[in-house]
Amino acid sequence: MRIDILTIFPQMFDGPFNQSILKRAVEKGIADIHIHDIRDFTTNKHRSVDDYPFGGGAGMVMMVEPIALCIEKLKSERDYDAVIYMSPDGELLDQKLANRCSLYKNIIILCGHYKGIDERIREHFITKEISIGNYVLSGGELAAAVLCDSLIRLIPGVLNDETSALSDSFQDNLISPPVYTRPADFRGWKAPEVLLSGNEKLINQWKLEKAIERTKKRRPGMMEGE
Ligand code: SAH
Repeated sequence: MRIDILTIFPQMFDGPFNQSILKRAVEKGIADIHIHDIRDFTTNKHRSVDDYPFGGGAGMVMMVEPIALCIEKLKSERDYDAVIYMSPDGELLDQKLANRCSLYKNIIILCGHYKGIDERIREHFITKEISIGNYVLSGGELAAAVLCDSLIRLIPGVLNDETSALSDSFQDNLISPPVYTRPADFRGWKAPEVLLSGNEKLINQWKLEKAIERTKKRRPGMMEGE
């Protein structure tokens, strides 16, 4: 998957893609991530990317031209399956949406800042708007990193054990059962014996029971597909 991220704060992406699973995906070439500084596409002499809102009001608005030029350049180089804008009023990101988006080959992700972006970008370029929750962040960068993480880990070859993403919470409308590792007894706090029994059938049965129990308790309604 090729991901082109448009931002006015490129350094914010130094961290998330340089650690752990995402780093490995990048190194293996499974995720091809390109960060573009929107400021490089300004044509004014101050290289400004934002301006006062028409009609007044608090906060600055990201200008249409540099974003338009950046998207147009990318689109002239290859086809994109989606041009995504991270936005608090977009479609709420959940596992189903992540599953669907993980099938894309090429995507653009635009990160807003300040009061947001000039509406004309949304009208003329954006094909999908995604929110990571009903709260407002100061910029789209962290949201974009969350989206990328949720997509990239689903691409075959990224996780070592390929069944591992499928057994996570929210796949199959179930929350994951609790997990344990060594030591089996820590200060008298014992891991469930069944997990040490070696009996695969009993273990799987236990995991399913716990998953159902947790789902009913923590996400009632989820098993019915809500
Ligand atoms: N004035 C806007 C909020 C702008 S926040 C409003 O009330 O809707 C600045 C930027 O942060 C947005 O352009 C968006 O890219 C990003 N952002 C903020 N909250 C977000 C969220 N919950 N999910 C995804 N992106 C978000």
